[in-house]
Amino acid sequence: SRIPIVSRVFASSAAPFSAAASPSDTIRATLFPGDGIGPEIAESVKQVFGAAQVPIEWEEHYVSDKVDPRTESFLTWESLESVRRNGVGLKGPMATPIGKGHRSLNLTLRKELGLYANVRPCSSLPGYRTRYDDVNLITIRENTEGEYSGLEHQVVRGVVESLKIITRQASLRVAEYAFHYAKTNGRERVSAIHKANIMKKTDGLFLKCCREVAEKYPEITYEEVIIDNCCMMLVKNPALFDVLVMPNLYGDIISDLSAGLIGGLGLTPSCNIGEGGIALAEAVHGSAPDIAGKNLANPTALLLSSVMMLRHLKLNDKADQIHSAILDTIAEGKHLTVDLGGRSSTTEFTEAVCDHL
Ligand code: NAD
Repeated sequence: SRIPIVSRVFASSAAPFSAAASPSDTIRATLFPGDGIGPEIAESVKQVFGAAQVPIEWEEHYVSDKVDPRTESFLTWESLESVRRNGVGLKGPMATPIGKGHRSLNLTLRKELGLYANVRPCSSLPGYRTRYDDVNLITIRENTEGEYSGLEHQVVRGVVESLKIITRQASLRVAEYAFHYAKTNGRERVSAIHKANIMKKTDGLFLKCCREVAEKYPEITYEEVIIDNCCMMLVKNPALFDVLVMPNLYGDIISDLSAGLIGGLGLTPSCNIGEGGIALAEAVHGSAPDIAGKNLANPTALLLSSVMMLRHLKLNDKADQIHSAILDTIAEGKHLTVDLGGRSSTTEFTEAVCDHL
């Protein structure tokens, strides 16, 4: 059962703020600790932000145990207003029952806040060995439509239908975001991932929009890769790719595949970009019910997501400091969590990151 609505504001720093970051300089951000391992890894972020004296005040919101009629979901109106007002936030994973029950909280957030692009970086971590040491991918996932439009119904008994919606507007918007991202982040290539050979209308429209936008960016190499071939190429040689842009469902799958190339879901962050410049960062992974409440979760993915949030806020010094501390902790290898082959708990790993700040 869900935790009752709580909304409280507190400073991220356990220690008093330094003169350079007095309370008046603090920035408010919304925090959804979320379900399962969410509260444990959110605690880790709060602890690291406190140790690094990040000038953030969190407005913390939990998912309600009853439907809020104003949002028609378990997300409260106040929590959505908090993100709209602050323009920036961090969310833990939110669980969705499989094959039954209420509308996904994640879908509600994406729709209500117009979170149209989900940016999912995936890079090899120095000192942590996997089959590859040169993964450096950015998956940009269309976040509002495709197979995740929430339009499913029974046609007749024994026959169900799910509608995949692709619009020109959403496709142009995410393509524009991907090319702009590539240009402003020193990336050279954008690959549009699709299945337009079979889904000629929907993925066909997505590709048409990508081509239109590509023409505005002659300095960026543009290519189109069919999703199944993309999976094979990623597993064989991930260095072939740079920025990948794709419809919703493919982005969900490709980013988990990419996470597997660098060590797993405990490591990959993301940031949702929304209308009016809203940024809501979150780990790629879910609520991990199998390890929830056991102090076993790897907080790296949410910590790296919080680093993305800090970069969005142009708090680059703090972002660099925390990013380096995470990488140094992993490279040192003494305090790895169980998913990375270590024996440390969430709290031990977090303390090690604080020690590396
Ligand atoms: P999951 O990502 O929660 O877990 C998959 C596997 O990865 C599990 O074995 C888990 O223990 C492991 N794992 C995930 N994160 C980890 C971490 N930080 N440290 C160590 N191990 C980690 O995927 P799932 O089991 O398919 O989904 C569980 C729930 O999460 C579902 O209700 C699903 O709808 C939800 N979900 C939410 C989001 C989101 O909020 N953005 C994303 C994906 C899934």
